[in-house]
Amino acid sequence: MGKHKKDEDCSSCNGKGGSWKTNDGKRFWAPCALCNGSGKQ
Ligand SMILES: [Zn+2]
Repeated sequence: MGKHKKDEDCSSCNGKGGSWKTNDGKRFWAPCALCNGSGKQ
């Protein structure tokens, strides 16, 4: 395990930058609040 990443994936969204949510039957992308949608910490 000699891997060293400079930018670690966000622990909240696992580097995805957000998650799909559903509201009133509509699907929308909700950016992660922890990393502001960047996916990195
Ligand atoms: Zn995040």
